Amino acid sequence: MRLSNRCYAVTGLGYSPPWCVNAGFVVGEQLTLVVDAGGNTLAAQSIHGYASAARPANQLRVVNTEKHFDHIGGNGFFREQGIDVWGHAAIARSAAEFEAEIAEFNAAIPDPVRRARGEAHAFFHGTHLANPNRQIHEDSTFDLGNCLAEILLTPGHTAANLSVWVPEDGVLYTGDLVVREYLPNLGSGAPADWQLWLASLDRIEALHPSVLVPGHGPVARGAEIPTALDAVRKVLQESIAGRPLSDMI
Ligand SMILES: [Zn+2]
Repeated sequence: MRLSNRCYAVTGLGYSPPWCVNAGFVVGEQLTLVVDAGGNTLAAQSIHGYASAARPANQLRVVNTEKHFDHIGGNGFFREQGIDVWGHAAIARSAAEFEAEIAEFNAAIPDPVRRARGEAHAFFHGTHLANPNRQIHEDSTFDLGNCLAEILLTPGHTAANLSVWVPEDGVLYTGDLVVREYLPNLGSGAPADWQLWLASLDRIEALHPSVLVPGHGPVARGAEIPTALDAVRKVLQESIAGRPLSDMI
């Protein structure tokens, strides 16, 4: 969907049910920046098609918001097209980890015949693991041609999380720093990480985005944004405290 003059979201890309993952792209006058690659080659082909059609003469560049496979599984397709993939220096997934993810999906298939057939591989048809070939170590700015995209390190969900901010359009892509409708995934961290996550939420709230593309769930606009951030904050605060917290403080 088109979010602004230059910014688009590609929502609802499939992953392990009930999870859908989002991607997006920002179209400058020379470069189109793709934000996340989807979970597999089929998703990457859809993202690539939309991003290429928006301004066909542009070069493409990909940036990953984190290291989980739902955001980087499509990297291999983009690399096969000769497209650079940027990501946090801490993104370094192994082939064994990727195989384990596929095996976990397959083990969750209820039908024993389908499970024995290894149908999880259908989801990853033609998908090859590729880590970013360009590393990001600090906050950075990409000049897309008459359009700046700021890459902001926003750790917490994982140490490798980053967000993409397009200040002129007021559009922010957060990856899994923010999810809507879903519960935030705390499986990659501990309370010290969740404190960082809270600080990252404060940081992006101070930008006052008008549109926010979460890692999962519907795009948030206007007054939906502080509500979405507060929902994530509440889960983090309760997890840090180890107990439910009353709304009446
Ligand atoms: Zn995710």
